[in-house]
Amino acid sequence: MKGFFLLLFSFSVFIGHTQDLLIKHINIIDVNNNEIQYGRTILISNGKIQKISKRSIKTNNAVVINGKGKFIIPGLWDMHVHTADSSYLKLFIINGVTGIRDMGGAAINANNGCESIGLEKLMIWRKLIQSGLLIGPRMFFSGPPVSNTGWPTSININTPESAQNAVRKLKELGVDFIKVYEDIPLDTYLALAKEAKASGLSIAGHVPVKTVSLIEASNAGHRSIEHIRDPLLLCFTDNREEVLRFFKEDDWSKTDIEWGLKQFEQNADVIQAFKKNKTWLVPTLTVEWAKVAIRDSLFVNSERRRILPESVREAFDNYVAKKLILTSKERKSDSLWWATQKLLVKKMHQERIPFMAGTDCACEGGIPGYSLHKELELFVDAGLTPFEALQTATINPIKFLNMTDSLGTVEIGKIADLVILDRNPIENISATQLIFSVIKNGQLISKKHIKRIKEDLSTYENIR
Ligand SMILES: [Zn+2]
Repeated sequence: MKGFFLLLFSFSVFIGHTQDLLIKHINIIDVNNNEIQYGRTILISNGKIQKISKRSIKTNNAVVINGKGKFIIPGLWDMHVHTADSSYLKLFIINGVTGIRDMGGAAINANNGCESIGLEKLMIWRKLIQSGLLIGPRMFFSGPPVSNTGWPTSININTPESAQNAVRKLKELGVDFIKVYEDIPLDTYLALAKEAKASGLSIAGHVPVKTVSLIEASNAGHRSIEHIRDPLLLCFTDNREEVLRFFKEDDWSKTDIEWGLKQFEQNADVIQAFKKNKTWLVPTLTVEWAKVAIRDSLFVNSERRRILPESVREAFDNYVAKKLILTSKERKSDSLWWATQKLLVKKMHQERIPFMAGTDCACEGGIPGYSLHKELELFVDAGLTPFEALQTATINPIKFLNMTDSLGTVEIGKIADLVILDRNPIENISATQLIFSVIKNGQLISKKHIKRIKEDLSTYENIR
């Protein structure tokens, strides 16, 4: 209980009563149309954008923000996180991440940093955030994943009946969607999808590829596929030679090659299924990039990681230690894997399969909030334009969540979750890191506040 009050205190010092905000001379990024509305005045009141004008707006008592030369975008979303600690909430907000989708309980003592705090805590935090007592992002969560891996933090299913029971249990717990994990038999998976649909819940997560094909998953209503796994990679390959080269260079077995070619042959059908069923992809590039970034001391020794809980830091150290003893052949394979993934993103993008930004933080060295900006850079690296990359963290998640009426753009009537940037992100995506201030639910978190939160986080161990 003591910890709870300290937590509240540590946040509440930054929460003032919500005042009207008047942003002058700001340039608005239109994330639907790749356009900029220059030199606008925006009035924010009662948590919403009330007016946008080319002229000045008269108000009493509004806090005035000079937006001259700056750019305003909708709040960012990280659509794949594992929240392990309350410090993450602050890290998201100071990075302009005003919304997250928590993908639930990774294994306790995960050896790669993918810890998750569990549903009960997330529910308490969400309530506190909604009531304005705590600063943090909007949250969607899955609670415990369903899988057939036998993990203690999952709900294990291996028959259609157990799948139905799992959906009922999760519904009772009050989750927003169901996170699917590995090794689920096909009949169980299909029963899960059917029961989830009947209960008004969607399914998302890994496709259990040993038992379920991508087409079966897409047709069953698997709304977002997380990570780029082998079958995805192979389905979007151009020709048989490319498949064979990938397996040869990666030193895979004959059975694997047969399996790979079978995936490849479904290529066109997978693309059609994804389009027909509106299946979204969350490639979690940051966590894949970590495999090669592990040789970059700037990444490994990032000062920012000190903010994370000790157990997450230790898990990352273990992960690094494991990677550092790889043979040169294994390293080459990691590099090839990463290069192929980027190629795949490019191809899926050419097919107009929609993406969302998700970072899998704090798995494998991802730092909540900061990793989202890396994800956007990696999307550009893989062939998206900066504008398209920006969409993956703004309007795309809001479309996915069916919330375009209230969020996702800078328009009159929308909830004021916004980020003001010093530079234009559609010229250079790295500008999303140049944060002047964040507005969450109409509440200003100014540059000064962000600085104070950072200072507070650096002494965080003392107050927790
Ligand atoms: Zn994950």
